[in-house]
Amino acid sequence: DRIARKRDRKFAEFRKRLKDADQFKVEQSVFDDATFAAIYKLVQDGYIDAFGGPISTGKEANVYEALGAEDTDVAVKIYRINASNFQHMREYLEGDPRFEGIGSNKKEVVLAWTKKEFANLRRARKAGVRVPEPIAVERNVLVMELVGLVEDRARRLAEVSVENPETAFEVVREYMRRLYDAGLVHGDLSEYNLIIHDGELVVIDMGQAATVHHPNADDFLDRDCRNVASFFTRQGLDVDPDDLRAFVTGE
Ligand code: ATP
Ligand code: MN
Repeated sequence: DRIARKRDRKFAEFRKRLKDADQFKVEQSVFDDATFAAIYKLVQDGYIDAFGGPISTGKEANVYEALGAEDTDVAVKIYRINASNFQHMREYLEGDPRFEGIGSNKKEVVLAWTKKEFANLRRARKAGVRVPEPIAVERNVLVMELVGLVEDRARRLAEVSVENPETAFEVVREYMRRLYDAGLVHGDLSEYNLIIHDGELVVIDMGQAATVHHPNADDFLDRDCRNVASFFTRQGLDVDPDDLRAFVTGE
């Protein structure tokens, strides 16, 4: 009918506009129509008002800054269905009781992964870990709080000179403990997935975070502890990964 036709036309216009937008130019080939439809839905629902530039173009996802509801700045993380290393995603998902029975279909895996990141951010936040506030999720698109400002972006811990490594380490250690208490292990924790703004440390990139019941949770935690210990050792502290692990697990 007429309304449906009008809606389809509006979507077609929207998609064309996005496809032509400078910041999406390089990505034309990787965002499929379903991704554009997901973005459109988020716009319709009022979570996204306008797109800014890309903050990061990673291996599996691109992160954009955008204008969200009520003039807030948001970060939009878009997982690429085709480029994703989904075999590796599957392995993380398979042992997770929350995603039992996940199919082997690539699209399905990436959608579950995006949902998982949203759920992990929620759980971490509830546990008192400073992470970006999750706002909305639609298929492979995640909308969250933008940490820092568009004009004064949050930096990775890896790219700043840490003013007070002692305090920073204590904060990270406490985040790891709280996360563990809430039943989660980050699984990719390092100076690359910790960002800092105005002296506040924020944990990001929770897609791979697994529950402590995951068969490889121990290995994930070991690796996190080694990465964190190694970074702070390079900052001049004396941090032992085994001690860190004992602190996190309370053993
Ligand atoms: P990579 O493969 O580079 O690790 P990724 O696909 O795993 O990227 P993230 O680590 O979640 O994605 O985000 C990539 C980068 O985008 C981060 O290093 C950070 O600089 C920026 N970023 C992500 N989320 C936010 C946010 N909520 N607020 C501000 N910056 C963010
Ligand atoms: Mn990352």
